Amino acid sequence: MKTPTIVKPDTAKSGANMTDYDAFRADFSWDDARALIDGLPDGKLNICHEAIDRHVAAGHGDQLALRWIDKAGNRTDFTYAEMQRQTNKFANVLRARGLQKGDRVYSLHGRVPELYIAALGTIKAGCVFCPLFSAFGPEPIHSRLEIGGGNAVVTSARLYKRKLKGLRDRLPALREVFLTDGEAEDCVHLAPLMDAASDAFDIEPMDPEETALLHFTSGTTGKPKGVVHVHAAVAAHHTTGRLALDLHPGDTYWCTADPGWVTGTSYGIIAPLTNRVSMIIDEAEFDVDRWYDTLEREKVNVWYTAPTAIRMLMKAGAGAMEGHDFSNLRFMASVGEPLNPEAVVWGNENFGMPFHDNWWQTETGGIMIANYACADVKPGSMGRPMPGIQAGVVEVTDEGAHELTEPLAMGELALRAGWPSMMRMYLNQEERYNKCFSNGWYLTGDQAMRDSDGYFWFVGRSDDLIKSAGHLIGPFEVESALMEHAAVAEAGVIGVPEETAGEIVKAFVALKPGNEPSDDLLLDLMGHARKKLGPAVAPKSIEFRTNLPKTRSGKIMRRLLKARELGLPEGDISTLESDES
Ligand code: ATP
Ligand code: MG
Repeated sequence: MKTPTIVKPDTAKSGANMTDYDAFRADFSWDDARALIDGLPDGKLNICHEAIDRHVAAGHGDQLALRWIDKAGNRTDFTYAEMQRQTNKFANVLRARGLQKGDRVYSLHGRVPELYIAALGTIKAGCVFCPLFSAFGPEPIHSRLEIGGGNAVVTSARLYKRKLKGLRDRLPALREVFLTDGEAEDCVHLAPLMDAASDAFDIEPMDPEETALLHFTSGTTGKPKGVVHVHAAVAAHHTTGRLALDLHPGDTYWCTADPGWVTGTSYGIIAPLTNRVSMIIDEAEFDVDRWYDTLEREKVNVWYTAPTAIRMLMKAGAGAMEGHDFSNLRFMASVGEPLNPEAVVWGNENFGMPFHDNWWQTETGGIMIANYACADVKPGSMGRPMPGIQAGVVEVTDEGAHELTEPLAMGELALRAGWPSMMRMYLNQEERYNKCFSNGWYLTGDQAMRDSDGYFWFVGRSDDLIKSAGHLIGPFEVESALMEHAAVAEAGVIGVPEETAGEIVKAFVALKPGNEPSDDLLLDLMGHARKKLGPAVAPKSIEFRTNLPKTRSGKIMRRLLKARELGLPEGDISTLESDES
């Protein structure tokens, strides 16, 4: 909170979709936002109509919708008109194979055009789309298909043989597997079916409250939950894309998230297309040089990424940026994990603009709290609630949730229920769903503070809070302080039980290249943390690691650091990526 505010010049604000946060917020209504959505006759709706068909009908069929960069660096372009034809074909293929409205179609694929066509074509046909991350192993795939009652999967022969084939007899609802390539028994080939299918399709008119998407949470705190979203959510996707990411029609936009996670669908497929931007899709995984090349060569205007990636770019140093021209970049945003103030400032110094942190969850379906193009940025803050969203810090007692209005009071982050993209249920977990609501508030499970300017500050997940000698300590504050040390690339902080203090703060730290763990460095880090945080909050113990355990979407799994530290069961680790802790 001590990092100076980044004041936006008027030039940065003037062309934004929202030029004055307070005035816009005061005037905003979700009905007005819904009016930006085309809709279908008789009050019906279909997300795919808003994403693709409406733009073609309005004469924008020739505009680039999606540019796919394959692993080798080749580019393939799809216009909006082509996407309309392809999604019509895919919807016809589903019908031809007996898949009806309401059936669940999953994807298990890397980032290839077929995945995007399947997602939108599924929704167009009134089926429910559920993305799986292609790096999942067989068991996580099985449980997600079982919970959601998956009827069809779109995948590749390689992924099918390695991960899905052996599960078929345990998945009675799974009737159809579409292969984008190769050969495998009990599967059908997508390409010939697509070739044979008509490129005309009458889009399925959906009731706004009918299901469009099933998403599984990241599993950071426990077993992933199946979250249901409906077609009406598109009003929130569209508006948050306009306001929080400042998407303008014709922008070149790059969302680095995989559609296996909600960010890669809400902001990697739906919101950009409803806002008629041209999307960049990169098939390859993170690579510093490739990312800088892509930003420059594709002339990206708006870039939406995540703290882990930003930290890796920072780790690579300024040298990697040398010689690149990023003058087309207008807006950079980050989500998924707390963004350390250090990273926001680094963005400002190196790209000439800060990373705009925003906060949301699978359950909220869209961005809820954000830093905006028109607003000054307080590094380390998630920003302010979206127009149409009332956020509060609450305390939950036996009488339910009550708002804490005092500035900087710490409590659970909560949102007034009722925005269009709010989850409609946790699949098969009604009780758990009901527990998320109290006195009209949706309880997020995160801890936060609001300052006197209305900016929200993330403290930590409720499960990760540390109670030490009467202090309540959020891991984010400690991690951010450690990140400010020149040798630190990443930090994960947990509470470890201790007799006198209740818990003590323990930090796990990964170093930047060129730094080696040593007793001297340890002492230096301890001193640095004490100076920044004071002795009550600074870690009592610091351990060096080459890597911290993360989910595949890049979130540090503090619960796993803790379980390993204490020798406790590891719990559900289906979404674990790096396992070198
Ligand atoms: P699970 O619910 O299964 O434990 P998850 O909460 O990580 O997993 P997601 O819905 O993908 O699943 O992530 C939402 C969570 O990510 C938020 O509740 C919050 O803890 C964290 N998060 C997202 N954006 C931010 C942000 N800008 N700052 C801090 N934390 C964030
Ligand atoms: Mg969660």
